[in-house]
Amino acid sequence: MVMGFLANNMTIESLRLPYACENCNHEITYLAVRGKDYEYPAAGLSEKVQVPENLECPKCKQVKVEPDFFIGKTFKFLKGA
Ligand SMILES: [Zn+2]
Repeated sequence: MVMGFLANNMTIESLRLPYACENCNHEITYLAVRGKDYEYPAAGLSEKVQVPENLECPKCKQVKVEPDFFIGKTFKFLKGA
């Protein structure tokens, strides 16, 4: 019987994040991976979020691709909220 699974008990291993180029408005999706871009709080350490703040735009080649989301809001799940 598979019952009683709660969404807030699940570990999110990766998630796709929207980024947009400030220069040409080109939009890309960045795949954030647990352990690399973020980590859950553990052993007295607080949660960690280290997603890139600037990426190179594949279209105009300028490093102006920035997060098109609120980091604090998006990673609220790390706090178990
Ligand atoms: Zn661009």
